[in-house]
Amino acid sequence: MSKDIFTLINEETNYYPENHQLGMVVPKGGSDCAKCKFLSGNHNCKNKGFQKWMTNTFKDVSDPSLLPAPADEYCCDLFVTKEYYER
Ligand code: SF4
Repeated sequence: MSKDIFTLINEETNYYPENHQLGMVVPKGGSDCAKCKFLSGNHNCKNKGFQKWMTNTFKDVSDPSLLPAPADEYCCDLFVTKEYYER
């Protein structure tokens, strides 16, 4: 099985901690889905890359756009602020 890009980057840089995943539960107050341009409604992500990762990582997921945790307690490496595109 081929390695995903995040694994390959981390092997070269040791940038992420061992338990890092593309999407993770995060402490409130920092970057999170609630502040991200890809949030759809209150509980879904419209980023196709995130949805693909969800499908590949959690094989039994029925809706890969559904965030695994509340929007203000979850984030992923594909985060983009809403303000970034409003500049
Ligand atoms: S942080 Fe990631 S999972 Fe959350 S809305 Fe943005 S792209 Fe989707």
